[in-house]
Amino acid sequence: MIGIATRPSGRDTEACRPHGSPPTVAAHLPTGLLIDGQWRPASSGATFPVQDPATEETLFDVADATSDDALAALTSAHDSWPAWREVAPRQRADLLRAVFDEMIARTDDLAAVITAEGGKPLAESRAEVIYGAEYLRWYSEQAVRIDGLARRAPSGANHQVVLNRPVGPALLITPWNFPLAMITRKVAPALAAGCTAVVKPAALTPLTTALFAEIVREQLESRGLPTGILNVVPTTHASGISGPLLADRRLRKLSFTGSTEVGQHLLRAAADGVLRTSMELGGNAPFLVFEDADIPAAVQGALAAKMRNAGQTCVAANRFLVHESVADEFAAGLTAAFDALVVGHGSDPGTTVGPLIEAKAVAKVSELVADAVDGGARVTTGGDALDHAGFFYAPTVLTGVSPDSRAVREEIFGPVAPIVTFGTEAEAVTMANSTDFGLVAYAYTRDVGRTFRLAESIEAGMLGVNRGMVSDATAPFGGVKSSGLGREGGEAGIAEYLDSIYVAI
Ligand code: NAD
Repeated sequence: MIGIATRPSGRDTEACRPHGSPPTVAAHLPTGLLIDGQWRPASSGATFPVQDPATEETLFDVADATSDDALAALTSAHDSWPAWREVAPRQRADLLRAVFDEMIARTDDLAAVITAEGGKPLAESRAEVIYGAEYLRWYSEQAVRIDGLARRAPSGANHQVVLNRPVGPALLITPWNFPLAMITRKVAPALAAGCTAVVKPAALTPLTTALFAEIVREQLESRGLPTGILNVVPTTHASGISGPLLADRRLRKLSFTGSTEVGQHLLRAAADGVLRTSMELGGNAPFLVFEDADIPAAVQGALAAKMRNAGQTCVAANRFLVHESVADEFAAGLTAAFDALVVGHGSDPGTTVGPLIEAKAVAKVSELVADAVDGGARVTTGGDALDHAGFFYAPTVLTGVSPDSRAVREEIFGPVAPIVTFGTEAEAVTMANSTDFGLVAYAYTRDVGRTFRLAESIEAGMLGVNRGMVSDATAPFGGVKSSGLGREGGEAGIAEYLDSIYVAI
């Protein structure tokens, strides 16, 4: 049974129509569009269902925004910007800090919604709330540290002053795999910088966004701040709304997290308006295990890097490149660790791996495994979809995988670990870099010199050394090559929402 036990918000929406099952889903979760501080139905009256991927049952019907609704949201973001940019940095910081506090106080509510619509085990959902909330706390601390520069020009002819001003209304488009953290990673720095926002969450997971947005709205309202600065437009017509928004010159910024393919499409559309853009795109992370690695530690790191959200993370280890002298030991350890995982509904205590997000995802993972096996790979555990309701695929380890197989070349986005062997460090680096992606890489080694050689040579925006997790709200997250443009988190994250203005005096 799913326990979405949210507190009544006092702002029910007309579009809120919970289905009969499951009974504990809160009746007060906003399911409308948030425009100009008001939850409202779509102008067309249309809704779309949001499913529990573990049971395939519909949880809620959510308002389906039209392009007119999206433009109304942009009007709200545009019209509330002058007031918001004038709000003192300290007040902005206090707002973000209050949202952080409220998110932490409501960890269980938020986690229950994440698990219900996204499928991940509750412990992972709670971890996402803590991680996602941290962006609010970090950017509350950064909001009062938006520095500029003043100096005498080297020529001595004048002074140079550099101010950082908010870019303006931003369109924030996010994926389903971290329905809270992907939103807060954008909303927190945007609001801290003095920008306003239109959020388009993924249609598969709009409920978490709604609950987060309601927390922000309540805090804005209670402080007498402009509630129109954060707008939310879930929709099943993503390109139908992004087209008109990107063509509208009131929009000043696009920040997108999702697949490289959609990112490329949006970059083309953003080119006409020469929009500021940030792109957090797909990955194909190599996980390198060298001959001097602590193998049990590498297995634990592999589990963390591969299996969060059943392998559906952009930073998921996609290819295990293991030195031939330790490959058998590593494969045996990983197989035993995968065998110990418990697949089930995310809200069942004891579940360590939830479902994939939809049937399409199970079909793609099945294809990739079949392709690897055709190419000579051996399945040491798993290898099949589970034959019951919900989109489950068994945690799978593949050994003897050909570097040419699709599972090595494409983003798997599922609980499958293909192991490929290498002989030398140079060979490992060449294999790691033989992809268009460059988001993150992982390496297990005890050799400090090698660590620095890898930091110089691996083509990725992030490198985890003897760690299976790198994400941290206080550090710059992002990729190189086809994995993206710009950084989120850390000091760099707020710069994505600021224009540098140079004044010669
Ligand atoms: P997706 O690209 O299909 O969708 C992402 C978002 O874009 C969704 O909200 C979707 O509705 C929207 N969208 C799709 N087509 C659009 C269009 N034409 N115009 C406007 N919006 C459009 O990705 P997904 O399946 O939701 O997420 C998985 C992908 O996201 C993976 O490739 C993963 O690696 C990537 N991802 C990257 C990061 C990162 O930080 N680099 C983080 C999480 C996920």
